[in-house]
Parts: sequence; C-alpha cells; structure tokens
Amino acid sequence: MPTKYTENTMCKRCRRAGEKLFLKGEKCNGAKCPMIKRNFAPGMHGPTARPGKLTNYGKQLKEKQKAKRMYGLIEAQFENYFDKAKKKVGNTSEWLFRLLESRLDNTVYRLGMVTSRRAARQTVGHGHVKVNGKKVNIPSYQIKVGDIISLSDKAAKKPGFAEVKNRLKKNDGLPAWLVLDAEKLEGKVTSQPKIGDIAMNVDWRTIVEFYSK
Ligand code: SF4
Repeated sequence: MPTKYTENTMCKRCRRAGEKLFLKGEKCNGAKCPMIKRNFAPGMHGPTARPGKLTNYGKQLKEKQKAKRMYGLIEAQFENYFDKAKKKVGNTSEWLFRLLESRLDNTVYRLGMVTSRRAARQTVGHGHVKVNGKKVNIPSYQIKVGDIISLSDKAAKKPGFAEVKNRLKKNDGLPAWLVLDAEKLEGKVTSQPKIGDIAMNVDWRTIVEFYSK
C-alpha cells in the first residue's frame, strides 16, 4: 500500500498560491520544500488541473490572500492595515507595505534572528525581544526609524538560538532600511521601509485595488 503523503497546512498554502510564501523557516530554502516536487495545487485534481484564466477580481483576491498569508495575518487584521494606510497622506500601496513591514515580529524575521515570521511572532510573544533596551512582547508593535531591536540575554543563551550569530553573519538578504550588528545580536532601523528596497513578489497596487472597490 503506498504511503499516504502528508503535508502541513502552510505548505498547502504555497501550493495553492502557486509560489513559495516562505512560511516554514529553513525548510523553505531546502530540498524538502514541497514546491520543488509538487508545484501544483493540492487535492485530487491538483496534478492534472489546468490553470483557469483568472478574472481581474480573481487576480486581486489572489494577491491579497498571498500577502496576508505571508505576514501570517487574519483577514480582519490585514484589512485593518489597509484602512490605516488609506488614511495616510501619500501612496496607499507604500503605506500598506510600510505598516506591515514595520511590525516588530516582521522586523525580527527580516533581521534574520529567526527563520520565519511565525517563529518571530513566538519569540516576541515570549518576551525575548527588546526595543531600545526595553522588552516588548507585542508582535504588531510598530518600529520607528532609529529603533534598536535586540534579543534578550536570556534568549541568546537558549539552545534554539545557538546558531543565531552565525546565521546573522551570513544574512545577505537584509532590507535597505535595516542594519545589523551580528556580534551584539542587534539591528537598527535606519529608514522607512519602501517597496523597492526589497525583492518581494507582491503587487501592492493590486491589493489596494481589491479593497478600493
Ligand atoms: Fe512549505 Fe516553505 Fe516550501 Fe512554502 S516555501 S511549501 S512553507 S517549505
């Protein structure tokens, strides 16, 4: 009897989106990522299903779902960021991106202190992260230019963080708005996140169009 293939929900989200959403940390960059061998939609008809032509609405919905899942948010939270972005003066797409990227959990992930946003959320929630020397345990906390983000001494000694210094030294995907001191296990926000400052396969304008109907 063939072995039943099991795959967790997060990987299925990537397969449904048709691209890597990087939800599982180190596994996402390794050979075990299901998107390498099973880059088709999950389900019985997945391997043979022909991709249907998406309507404009379908494309907008798909893009919104993708970004929402990347940041690990539920619909109400994601929409709330859009509402805030819409009220700001300037480009709504840029603001939406900036507000999402400025979340503390996302910043911990971008700095490379952990390998997924999910792990970053846990790390912040468990009180292992400091902003300007003070513990902040709110994953959605908005970081500002000039803020210094560091791991608590207690966290740095935990087995799960044994490799963190080496990983930080190798972190070559740092966005333009962050600088990192791997020895001190701390990063600094040097400017506001901008869409063009990092390679990310998200069409922010399409998402704004989705909510602007
Ligand atoms: Fe799973 Fe990560 Fe690969 Fe997505 S990118 S399928 S979450 S291992």
